[in-house]
Amino acid sequence: MKTITKYVNEHTGDEYTSAKECELSEKQSMTAKEMFSFVKIVKDSGCKFANGEYCIQRSSEYYNQLRDTIVLGIKKFDPRIARKFTEKNKDGLEVAVNFPFGIICRYLGDGASIVQDYFLIYQNICPKCYREWGQGYFALHCTHTDKAAEPGLDR
Ligand SMILES: [Zn+2]
Repeated sequence: MKTITKYVNEHTGDEYTSAKECELSEKQSMTAKEMFSFVKIVKDSGCKFANGEYCIQRSSEYYNQLRDTIVLGIKKFDPRIARKFTEKNKDGLEVAVNFPFGIICRYLGDGASIVQDYFLIYQNICPKCYREWGQGYFALHCTHTDKAAEPGLDR
């Protein structure tokens, strides 16, 4: 029999074989939580939000802050991903984040990025009218005229 020791990030549930790696992960997840503390999470009882029954009106300032914080987060937590986009163009990362359904989404998912959850929220916001939907599909097919739900459905 062999005993295996594992360490668990208390914030994300991710498991590590070394305490040092786990401590670094916890530090990063706390930093990310602080960086993205302005992000509003929609309460979705009964999956109505995810099913497109309503949207939440956001502002251009909120959208831009989220986009800019995602860029900072990728540079801070995922420098290898950031370099992929800045090797040929110093603004490449900003350009990639401006196309939320592009390859950047795949990189964040495959790399299990700490920024991914926030990127998925960003992806659900229509870049023209700033309505946040429960899925990217609805943001892509937004008519920009749907009545937004009353405030209070998010935290
Ligand atoms: Zn729209």
